[in-house]
Amino acid sequence: MVGLGTPGRAEFRTTAAAPAVAVPFTVHDFARHLFLGAKFAAISATLEAMHLTRAARFAPDRLRGRGVIFTLHHVRPHEPARFRASTHLEITPDFLEAVIRHVTALGYQPIPLTEVPARLAGPEGGPRFVAFTLDDGYRDNLVHARPVFERHSVPFTVFATSGFVTRERTVWWQTLEKTIAAVDDLYWDAGERRHRFSCTGRRAKAMTFRRVADWMNSVDEDWAISTLDRVAAEHGISAAAVVEQEVMNVAELRDLAASPMATIGAHTWSHVNLRRVSHDRLVEDIDRGVAEVTSILGHRPTVFAYPYGSHASAGVREFAAARGFDLAVTTEPGTLHAADLERLTALPRISINGHYQRTSWIEALISGLPFELIPHRADFD
Ligand SMILES: [Zn+2]
Repeated sequence: MVGLGTPGRAEFRTTAAAPAVAVPFTVHDFARHLFLGAKFAAISATLEAMHLTRAARFAPDRLRGRGVIFTLHHVRPHEPARFRASTHLEITPDFLEAVIRHVTALGYQPIPLTEVPARLAGPEGGPRFVAFTLDDGYRDNLVHARPVFERHSVPFTVFATSGFVTRERTVWWQTLEKTIAAVDDLYWDAGERRHRFSCTGRRAKAMTFRRVADWMNSVDEDWAISTLDRVAAEHGISAAAVVEQEVMNVAELRDLAASPMATIGAHTWSHVNLRRVSHDRLVEDIDRGVAEVTSILGHRPTVFAYPYGSHASAGVREFAAARGFDLAVTTEPGTLHAADLERLTALPRISINGHYQRTSWIEALISGLPFELIPHRADFD
């Protein structure tokens, strides 16, 4: 995406009085908005059809594999009034509870993530397993998810981004969401231009979020975040306050780690897209994340999740860099099989997606059948 500036370019700030140029939404923005809506509808229809035809119940065992690892992010009560750019990253505590009941009723045994390799190496024919994981270290994991897991004696792993916990890094997607939620127009200085993006209404907010997010993903991530944090501040939103509000601090992470059900895993220091940085930065970011979690908790994390986690952010180089862990997880969807012992630093997970909060659909997903039927695997995230 062009128009929001590029790193390294001489950036002379405009005055607040400079006229802002409205950035119109393009046919592409509208088409993408409609396409995403249609995509969710298509996936929902597929999952519902599997439920109605009972296809999931009759899916071949080879597709189910030995078990699944679930990915969650936020777990918190639904607030209909709040603008959410990332609905897929949020489920309610009630739905988490419903999923636990449903999958255990289907015979899945909840296990700690750290036991996955042993289960994959074990004999065929035993009960299937389920491991719950939560990425980024959101405070609601402590407040809303932990009581649910403890009530059902279900182990869970939280992947903490150490820079978020220590408040050295801000969470750009949360900063952007909160800023767009708060305003009707987003003003963005880029060199001699001053842009104005419409944020009037949910559709405009969603489209503006996607445009800025695309830009974040196309330029140097550290520079993009510092630029966004400045823009947010100009709209009265403090990125530091957002991370303070959304993410556990050091004391809270220790509190969570004290739960007999909890394991804390590493998720880098900065949450940078590892595929988009140098090898030195990649190694440094992983090591620093491990060192900081180790110093907070007093023991070294043995499991790791790649930031973002799709094939666009974790590939062969990253899988090799994670060899120091017992296992590492992506967000590429799939069920787990004995053959996955050959790729313990590239394990797939199934996202419990906020768009699909129905237990019958979770049942369809863990059958492994949807990943056979729908070719674009990443679409489930
Ligand atoms: Zn993450």
